[in-house]
Amino acid sequence: MEPEAAEQEKEKEKEKEKLCRRCKSTYEPSGNTARSCRFHPSFFVCRRHDDQKRYYELRDGDPPYAAKFYDCCGAEDPDAAGCTTDFHVSYDD
Ligand SMILES: [Zn+2]
Ligand SMILES: [Zn+2]
Repeated sequence: MEPEAAEQEKEKEKEKEKLCRRCKSTYEPSGNTARSCRFHPSFFVCRRHDDQKRYYELRDGDPPYAAKFYDCCGAEDPDAAGCTTDFHVSYDD
């Protein structure tokens, strides 16, 4: 075996995992596809739904217009899985 070949073998370093600044999970750049990152493109808000419909189950003591939801999809659980997928975005990009 040529000494140079051994050197090249060493340079094939293991791919470094990156941290996604959007969903805060780690990923391997080679496995990053347009469906890898699940997120909500809008913020979790606390106000009336735009169409004034009540999707939010009111509890005792809530004002009649209370609504907390993601502006993008209307999901009312802050931990709801993202409604949109895209590539992960690293802090280096
Ligand atoms: Zn959403
Ligand atoms: Zn991500």
